[in-house]
Amino acid sequence: MSTNQQRLVILGAAESGVGAALLGKQQGWDVFVSDGGSIKEQFKTVLRQNAIEFEEGHHTMDRVLNATCVVKSPGISDKVAVMKDVRKAGIEVCSEIEFGYRYKGDSKIIAITGSNGKSTTTKLTYHTLKTADYDVAMVGNIGYSFARQIAEKPCEWYVMEISSFQLDDIHYFRPDVAVLLNITPDHLDRYDYKFENYIASKFRITQNQQPTDYFVVNHDDKVITNHLSAHSIHAQTLFFTMNDNNTGNEGGYISDDHMHVLFNGENLDMSIHDLAIKGKHNQYNSMAAGISARIAGVRKEKIRESFLGFTGLEHRLEFVATIRGVEYINDSKATNVNSVWYALESMKKPVVLILGGQDKGNDYSEIMDLVKEKVKAIVCLGIDNTAIHEAFGEVVPTIVDTTSAQDAVNASYAVSEPGDVVLLAPACASFDLFKNYEDRGKQFKDAVRNL
Ligand code: ADP
Repeated sequence: MSTNQQRLVILGAAESGVGAALLGKQQGWDVFVSDGGSIKEQFKTVLRQNAIEFEEGHHTMDRVLNATCVVKSPGISDKVAVMKDVRKAGIEVCSEIEFGYRYKGDSKIIAITGSNGKSTTTKLTYHTLKTADYDVAMVGNIGYSFARQIAEKPCEWYVMEISSFQLDDIHYFRPDVAVLLNITPDHLDRYDYKFENYIASKFRITQNQQPTDYFVVNHDDKVITNHLSAHSIHAQTLFFTMNDNNTGNEGGYISDDHMHVLFNGENLDMSIHDLAIKGKHNQYNSMAAGISARIAGVRKEKIRESFLGFTGLEHRLEFVATIRGVEYINDSKATNVNSVWYALESMKKPVVLILGGQDKGNDYSEIMDLVKEKVKAIVCLGIDNTAIHEAFGEVVPTIVDTTSAQDAVNASYAVSEPGDVVLLAPACASFDLFKNYEDRGKQFKDAVRNL
């Protein structure tokens, strides 16, 4: 790609698309943004302020197909008509992180992917580097897009949350540190319902890495370990595990309730009870963040300080209130079955579980044992709850259908008793009834506070 007034066409004008447009414009590209839906006012304002041409509501194909390079929003599937035409025309397609990568200069990247825990681990790693006074930005699915950050405020370090969709169209993208947290079925609707395709997409995070780079991997995840040998991995691979030290000289493990992060001949030893974020899943996230920070050169003391103070993110096992002896927890971001497994695993009281929404091809067998052991009632919150009734009809004595957050909270209130916990952990996307998972979580919290 040269920058000699070549034509950059951006499909989809949300955070990543607008970021790529800004960077492209700054780098001398002839930029055109096309969005088949409507563009949010805040993004239109940015485009206008920067004299970037755009259209919305349709794609004018002769203004798209004359592109030198197309940057596609991660939300756009290859199956939509415009993408079929772009592919047929043989135009180079890249994701926004790929486009940003080409202008990152000497900066360094810690890139984090996985089916669950990306945002938490990204934020924790960022928080740790910030605590150590690094010149660092948090980018990707969380905060500004990578491209926008480079255009507006380049930094020495980027901690990046990456989805499989962003990885699908990389060519040269090469993180200095790549983290693969876990792989469980998710988004299969975008991968022809083939788990293998989704796995391959996650492994792309390491495909361009070299021996001076690091690949930080969950050793307890069978899907990952079973697929390691199928990929030629050039980076130094460091493992983290819940088992006693089987990671070799470097990596992370938990032993006697202590987390150990080994790197460069030093051992960061921290009681898991001192970690501000709780639950087994967060021990994994903390090991991954700890190893990444050590690779980045952060001192052990700074990592400890960061981990003591980091309190987690909204909508992830977030405590809302205790009302008449019943605790309410908002885990609206639990949008797949595996995250619900970790939520249930960390519950110590009888659970009223609010489940449901837009099903992505869920297999509930993974949580069956925990549901049998801990769940006294299920409150469905979704338009079509058939799969939930089929899976749990014989197992859970009370299953109620609701179609609003308020009704779900009222129904939970009615079936709960002091000493119970009401857990919103839907295992599904929210789009059937809500704008997004944040909207679902906020409506849930409002409804609880109105009880
Ligand atoms: P992501 O960005 O990958 O969606 P989040 O940090 O936003 O990850 O967490 C999403 C959901 O997964 C939340 O319900 C959270 O409690 C749960 N979770 C967080 N970390 C993990 C993990 N390592 N394994 C499984 N579930 C996790």
